Amino acid sequence: MCRGHEIWRVKKENCPMLIQYRRGAFATTVLSLVFICANSTSIGQTVETADDLIADYASYAEVDFLRVNTGKVKTKKLGAKGWHVAIEVPTAKTFTRVTLTADGWDFMRLLPLRGGRGRLARPGDSIEVVVPADGVGWFFLLNPFPEVSVREYRPNTLFKLANNTPRKAKYPVVDVHAHLRSVTAEGRVKVMDAVGVAIVIDSPLGIPTELSYGRFQKKYPDRFLTFANVNFSERFEETFPANVIGKLRADVNSMEVAGISEVIDKGSGVYGHALMDEPRGKVHVDDDRMMAIWRAAARLKLPVLLHVGEPIWFYEPIDENHEFLQWQSNSFRWNLSGTGVPSRDKMMERRAHIMDKVPELVVIGAHMGHLEDDLARLGELLDKYPNFHVEMGVRHVYLGLQPNTARKFHIKYQDRILFGQDGALTVQQYRQYFRFLETDDDQITIRSNEPKIYGLNLPDDVLRKIYYGNAARLMPNVKEKLIKRYPDLEFPE
Ligand SMILES: [Zn+2]
Repeated sequence: MCRGHEIWRVKKENCPMLIQYRRGAFATTVLSLVFICANSTSIGQTVETADDLIADYASYAEVDFLRVNTGKVKTKKLGAKGWHVAIEVPTAKTFTRVTLTADGWDFMRLLPLRGGRGRLARPGDSIEVVVPADGVGWFFLLNPFPEVSVREYRPNTLFKLANNTPRKAKYPVVDVHAHLRSVTAEGRVKVMDAVGVAIVIDSPLGIPTELSYGRFQKKYPDRFLTFANVNFSERFEETFPANVIGKLRADVNSMEVAGISEVIDKGSGVYGHALMDEPRGKVHVDDDRMMAIWRAAARLKLPVLLHVGEPIWFYEPIDENHEFLQWQSNSFRWNLSGTGVPSRDKMMERRAHIMDKVPELVVIGAHMGHLEDDLARLGELLDKYPNFHVEMGVRHVYLGLQPNTARKFHIKYQDRILFGQDGALTVQQYRQYFRFLETDDDQITIRSNEPKIYGLNLPDDVLRKIYYGNAARLMPNVKEKLIKRYPDLEFPE
């Protein structure tokens, strides 16, 4: 890494000034400024080259002159107009910002020298400055700065902060958002015991309910439950809703299911990836066929884990204005900008449509209902729809960036939030969630390429509800299993 400054000073009176930025062969005037300066100090001297300029001003006692590792500089006298100064940015792994200062004042904010779309000058760029002969007291400062890819940025913290990570959650946890897929039941139980997770409810995706049931719940009936999978491969058959409803009834009787497995509509309908082509038409979550299923689920008292839309940041273009550029650069496959996928608001409308039409259905909005960026708006929805709830899978990473707002939100809506995580976590990953919820630790690292988060330090009665109380109230078969394992467990009102 190199650091350095190169300063020229050109003292002239009354300076109109033109700054040009040139990239490659295309000269683009990005910034054109005219200053009328009133400074009477005149040096009354011309120089032909940058070295002359530097040599000349190095002799001035008040000039802080330092020259380290700069690019090539060419100056040209433009007759009575002044000097033309061209600076070729070093091709070393640096980028360079040219700023102007006058008499010690930093004019950087006044003159951000930026290229197309606001990017900073890069190696190989050429920066040109015209200094009029009647300019005054201007310094040109060249600051080489290390070029670091945002994808490689891994800051080391120097803060000495408390780490109160709990070994186990304070109360038994019911994990309502899990995809166990190919992990073994034995291995899972070891992880659950190590961190204090009482029950995991598996959401089989695209695999029959029986498969999850056989691999987990049947082996450890007190530790696992299964959400009933909906077979969407028949979604275009006329018999689709009736078949699904019949299968749900059978699953309730044969496998003690806890609800309906995560139904995901990221914009292309309830089947597949957000960008999947559906040549026969999209079947969205609020399609008539799905509405028939939701009405049956409400009658069967089965809640549904509903994933509608995506986080607001996934819809934003990945560029220098993205709020979480570093983060998105490592998960850009999820980004939806420019894909034509329906907006988040459109998807929120579809979910509201379900809750308007089938108000008795218990909806568990996956991932804080994808309104983690706007908890006030999420609160309004929870106020409006009494059977709407949310789980927090992978949203500690956003909630922990607004700990004051999120803490108030979790206390106010303590009856409406459930614990979930969206996968099959390691011991350490589960503990990160509990550290976030239970402690007031600062700068909690979730992953090294993500912003550090802050603990919510939630009160005990709120933790009880989020960890197990709300799941026991809303989901069939949860409370019975908890009582069997923890006979003295208190259930909040
Ligand atoms: Zn999921």
